[in-house]
Amino acid sequence: MDIIVLRPDATDEALRHLLKKLESKGLSAHVSKGTERTIVGVIGDTSRVTEEEEDAIRVMTGVENVMRILKPYKLASREFKAEGTLIDVKGRVIGDKKIQVIAGPCAIENKTLIMNIAEKVKDAGASFIRGGAFKPRTSPYSFQGLGEEGLQYLADARERTGLPVVTELMDPRDIEIMVKYADIIQIGARNMQNFMMLEELGKMQKPILLKRGLSATIEETLSAAEYVLKGGNREVILCERGIRTFETYTRNTLDLAAVAALKMLTHLPVIADPSHATGRRDLIVPMARAAITAGADGVMVEVHPDPEHARCDGPQSLTPTGFSELMDGLVPLVALEGKHLGVG
Ligand code: PEP
Ligand code: MN
Repeated sequence: MDIIVLRPDATDEALRHLLKKLESKGLSAHVSKGTERTIVGVIGDTSRVTEEEEDAIRVMTGVENVMRILKPYKLASREFKAEGTLIDVKGRVIGDKKIQVIAGPCAIENKTLIMNIAEKVKDAGASFIRGGAFKPRTSPYSFQGLGEEGLQYLADARERTGLPVVTELMDPRDIEIMVKYADIIQIGARNMQNFMMLEELGKMQKPILLKRGLSATIEETLSAAEYVLKGGNREVILCERGIRTFETYTRNTLDLAAVAALKMLTHLPVIADPSHATGRRDLIVPMARAAITAGADGVMVEVHPDPEHARCDGPQSLTPTGFSELMDGLVPLVALEGKHLGVG
């Protein structure tokens, strides 16, 4: 028993009674009041509810149906919670009718650079600044990031521009410092199935940006989100960032169908990262637009003033001018989708 559907005429009294009953079994509930029906998502170890107990709930006043979710994830599913989750990060709402743009360099290279980029992307209309202080590089000889010093520069950029910061956590031992500096903690593709880390993040009250693994299926991605949700942290944003296919022209293959499918399967916000998905500057604008058309709630884009000399991911970074052009082009597109761009 994972979901209890109430009859359209169920009273508040009947709902209260039902919630009390669940509570007496050590379960809690998420109540979604839709226009037609109220759906009660049951939270806790529902496998311990016996068939007899389930039958007793089925015949309670106001109850129309009792269902089990057979998927490996539950809290993340639309069946469990019909309305889209809105995540408010310092007044920037992610989800629903908002399109939020996260922009910044792949890595925080030095203070001047991150300050400069933060100002430029803010002027162009970005809602968040991104930048990695701990970089998950394929080669151990590549630049690994500035560590906590980089996080301090990112915090300085936030102070200067007011843009909340998104930055990646690589090691569960750094959770405490991350909580101190980040407004959204990013979990990179390579850590999507680091279950111990996800469990730790479930205990935090901090939004998590969970990137799809390099070869993860949609179901595996949602199951990874479930680890965080299960711990009590309900603020997870999913990110499609391209998957491994046989194609080598692009760095990865942006799975746009996954964006649309995720929006159907889950109430969690979904964004797309056309930089890591394509590895190519010239594909960022068309793929950002395509992702928004597919239903994405936002995009994350890498921006660098001198991509040729970037210490990381220059080929997939827009220049500030290119970023401004992307943003200008998004205004009419987002309006066409009946959504709003940016803050609020
Ligand atoms: C990043 O966003 O900087 C990054 C490393 O992305 P991914 O984990 O998707 O490769
Ligand atoms: Mn990068």
